[in-house]
Formats: sequence, C-alpha cells, structure tokens
Amino acid sequence: MSHVFHRHCHANLPTATGGHGIYLTDQNGNQYLDGCCGAAVTSLGYGHPRVIDAVQKQVQDMTFAHTGFFTSEPAEQLAEFLAINAPGTLNKVYFTSGGSESVEAALKMARQYFLEIGQPSRHLYITRRQSYHGNTLGALGVGGNQWRREPFAAIMTDAHYIDPCYAYRDQHPNESEFEYGQRMANQLEEKLRELGPENVAAFVAEPVVGATAGAVPAVTGYLKRIREICDQYGVLLILDEVMCGMGRTGTLFACEQDGIEPDLITLAKGLGAGYQPIGAVMVQQRIFDAISSGTGFFQHGHTYMGHPVACAAALAVQQTIQDDQLLNNVKQMSTKLFNRLHHTFSDHPYIGDIRGRGLFVGIELVADKDSKQPLPIESSIHTAIKAEAMANGLMCYPMSGTINGRDGHHILLAPPFIINDTQIDELVDKLEIAVNTSFK
Ligand code: PMP
Repeated sequence: MSHVFHRHCHANLPTATGGHGIYLTDQNGNQYLDGCCGAAVTSLGYGHPRVIDAVQKQVQDMTFAHTGFFTSEPAEQLAEFLAINAPGTLNKVYFTSGGSESVEAALKMARQYFLEIGQPSRHLYITRRQSYHGNTLGALGVGGNQWRREPFAAIMTDAHYIDPCYAYRDQHPNESEFEYGQRMANQLEEKLRELGPENVAAFVAEPVVGATAGAVPAVTGYLKRIREICDQYGVLLILDEVMCGMGRTGTLFACEQDGIEPDLITLAKGLGAGYQPIGAVMVQQRIFDAISSGTGFFQHGHTYMGHPVACAAALAVQQTIQDDQLLNNVKQMSTKLFNRLHHTFSDHPYIGDIRGRGLFVGIELVADKDSKQPLPIESSIHTAIKAEAMANGLMCYPMSGTINGRDGHHILLAPPFIINDTQIDELVDKLEIAVNTSFK
C-alpha cells in the first residue's frame, strides 16, 4: 500500500525509476516518450549532463542560504541572464519555488505598487474565463477553471472575468481574425468601465492559454490592444508565462511574438525544466522602485525563494538552451510536428482543430467537425486517450474543460526541445494509435 497522498487519490501509478533524453522508464523497464514534458516542464529532457554537473557542484559548494541573510552567485547570475534576455525593461527578478507562488507574488506586487504610489482603491483583478493561473487561493482566485474553483469558492477572492481569445470557436464568419481579436480585447475596456478603472489593479492573462484550453494563442493584435487599454486606464498587465514561457513557443518569452512588454511576467516550469523546483516574477524597474520606496520591503516571501541549487540548475538549463541554439530546433521540430499532425489527423472525424505555437500544440476533439459540437464531458475521452497512450509508451496531456460556457476536450503536446525527427514520428504514430483505439 502506498502512503503517498496522490492527487488522484486511488490511482495505481507506475513508478518512474529513470530518465534519459526524452524518455522516462518505469519499474518494469517500460519506456515512455515524454510528449508533454510532464506538464510543459522538462524542456531539456532527462539526465542532461551539464545540468547534473551544475547541480552537483552547487550542492557541494553551498546548498542553502536564507535570503533574509544572503544572496548567492547562482541567483545573481540567473537574474542577470533573465534580465538581459527579457523583452524591454523587465529587469528585476523575484524568485519563487513554482508557478502558483509566482502568480501570488505578482498579484501582491501589483497591489503593493498601487499602495505605494498613492492609489489605494486599486484592488480588483480582471482575468479570462477558462484560464489557469495556479492552485493556491490567490492564484486560483484569478483563474477561471470552474471545477477547481467550486469546492473552495467560499474561501477565495473572486476575480472579474472577460472571455478568452479563442478564434476557433468564437470568431464570426463575417469578421477577420484581426477584427475578432480587437472585439475580444475591447471586452477589457467594457469591464474596466463597469468596475471603475480606479478600482482595478491588474489584468492577468496567458499569452498562449495552456492546460485549460489546449495551447490557444492570442490572435495577431489582441495583446497589443490589451496593452493599449491597460496603459490608457493605468492598469498593470501581468502576463502568466508559467507554461508558455522559456522557449516553449520558439522565442524565450511568448509575448515577444505579440510585440508587447507586460509590466510583470510570471515564470516557472521550463525555467528549471524539472531539474529543481523554481519560478520567478520579472518586473519593470519602475514597479520595483515603487515597491521598494516605502518600507523598503516587498511584504511577501517564501523560505525557499532563490534557492541556490534551484538557481544553479535553472542557469545551466537556460545557458544550454542558448548555447546549443535549441530554439532553432523548437522551430524546426514545430514545423515537422504540425505537418505530421495535419497529415495524420485532418480527416479524422473527431479532430476539429490543431493549433499552437512552437512545441506547444493543442488538438481539439469534437463530436462533429462541421458544427464544432464538443464531445460531452461524460464521454471522458481524455481519460481513455491518456491511458491508451501510456499503455503504448507515450505521455501526452489530454484534458477536459469548459470554455466560454461550452464543454470540450483537447490533447496538449509539449515535447522536449531536444526532440528529433524520428522521435516526432514516433510521438505522432503512438498518438494516432491511442486516439483511434480510444474512439473505437
Ligand atoms: N500558471 C499557469 C499558466 C500554469 O499552467 C500553471 C501550472 N499548470 C501555474 C500557473 C501553476 O504552476 P504550479 O503548478 O507550478 O504552481
């Protein structure tokens, strides 16, 4: 009997015993191609020698120094690396231990910023339905995933919602993609007018919506319009790149492709690529200056923030991605993956949409392709596909969820940046078998 309190309380999970390249191995020697990096985490795959060396060296030199007393070389170097490579003036880095912690910290930074600059009425957050920003109470409060929110609604602060930018489902036939994006972004302005902009601290959004919607990128011009509205009404823009950041979409930061700079950006997952738990919030200098102007404290913090071993691992991961020019491979393998998926699934009766950016790909399942009618949630097709894929040696990330009031199913693919041509073929071949077997 397992004494681990698993999230899926009664799940009988295989035991992962080893990892090499893009494969994990279980206790019986079965190999699994990691087609989703767990949950968009392990971008460098498993057992990368450069990262292992960096972790071992740091453990030997100095494992922990509390940030109330010391900074550390790995933290300083990682922050510098991020500041140099981030868009615009995002040059202050606040370290956390994961994605939810990053979002919590960003929400509090926005609030403390407005207190320090003498706008105490700004305390509300606007976000988008069906987004996911983490599971701690603050982060869950700004997320839109009903299933996760429901049991805890009574003890959570509510955000205010607008619709996500989701062209496959909501673009009108008589409008262009650009017009659609502007229409959806303008919902933010309407919401601000409704709430009174002087009461709103920040708008929070994922540039490419990950787990809850299946790699849905914002259409061209959408985030630019969002940026304009935030500027016009003095609202901070927090982009959550916990899942889509750190090279996953082909550029280090996903928002580079949208041509905008947020005021704050949250990171985790691909930052340490699973070698150590780590997250970060990057902020513009003026936000830091305001927060540090009063008591000199950001009134928030966690014991393990800036952990030297985690920072050393993340630095080695990011330097490897840069030195080995792995974002070029992300772009090349992305083209190959999309081609193979379109070739394999475009005529599939239950596959309605294949979308995403870089190696961040969503496949939407529908009951009927013409009407785009979703499959009923009760079909649990996502559970079947996951089980069939695992039985066939593939990890993928099928999910169900409600988007703009409609149920839906999708499969998220997010393979490691080191994947090669043959392995893309293996991934798609295995996925095809899992999908076809599940629909039988
Ligand atoms: N934000 C986004 C966009 C995420 O995808 C996630 C995790 N799936 C989180 C925040 C929360 O991160 P963590 O699970 O590391 O707390």
